[in-house]
Amino acid sequence: MHIGVFADIEGSFGIWRMRQCRMGTREWQYGRACLTKDVNSVIQGAFDGGAEKVTVKDTHEVGFNCLIDKVDPRAEYIGGHYIKPSLFGKITDLDLVLYVAIHAASGTEGSFFPHTHYGIFSEVRLNGKRVCEMDIYGAYLGELGIPIGFVSGEYIAVKQALEALPWAKSVIIDKRKETYTSGEKSFRYLKEGRVLLQQTAQEAVRHASQMQPLVIPGPLHFEATFRTQQLADKFNTWDFKQTGEKVEWESENMINGFEMLNKLTFFPKKIYPYRKPLTFLMRNYFRVKSTWFAPKPNPEEAAEC
Ligand SMILES: [Zn+2]
Repeated sequence: MHIGVFADIEGSFGIWRMRQCRMGTREWQYGRACLTKDVNSVIQGAFDGGAEKVTVKDTHEVGFNCLIDKVDPRAEYIGGHYIKPSLFGKITDLDLVLYVAIHAASGTEGSFFPHTHYGIFSEVRLNGKRVCEMDIYGAYLGELGIPIGFVSGEYIAVKQALEALPWAKSVIIDKRKETYTSGEKSFRYLKEGRVLLQQTAQEAVRHASQMQPLVIPGPLHFEATFRTQQLADKFNTWDFKQTGEKVEWESENMINGFEMLNKLTFFPKKIYPYRKPLTFLMRNYFRVKSTWFAPKPNPEEAAEC
């Protein structure tokens, strides 16, 4: 069994504020250490549950958040974004994905760093219903035949994910500062939490045959509302239907619909023909930058990470 451990960062144990997720900050360096520990717990659980091979896919921002030299060496690590065979790289032979450290959908009140796909959107709807990333990425992976069988993150993020993926195993993670800055109590919470990640990942892999690829039958109608009309004007270089800050498009399935979302988000029409060499350059640039030129970590008063 080949297991994919996909990593976002907002929903990690140890993370309580936005700067800890912002690339290039000293607080991010702390957040990266937190995320790497969560990822390693899930890798351990995957092997305990019967994985023969584990591949980690780093997905937050430019896709280099884990501390690569600290990732369990038994797993293969894919950093950065790709064009082919998928945005996530070569993943078509995965049997199951475990998604670590997720966050809530754009527009979710009272949640930690809520966004869907990218911070420019205040809301993304699919066939009239507000969606989170697990709906979109889950259905994209689903059309490739790959189920998501595990999620971890704050309560509301997990709740939204489980509406799309009711079969998935889950771990809920606290986002309050005092949970991580209260000495002995915090140590215990982190220690027990990471054991829970390991056990739950193990359980998900053991029950891999019960996990289902998410398929949302087409046709699909997407509505992406930008935070401002200015952003919508700037990003909609593709002449998708636009009313004020809302941009809409149709697709027959999620693979194409997601491609259109990525055109809107990352690839202006003029850049699109060069997207392959560009992503190649970006991957190498950010791999070197985040490995060799990373800032010194700011421990953030945390008991431990
Ligand atoms: Zn993220």
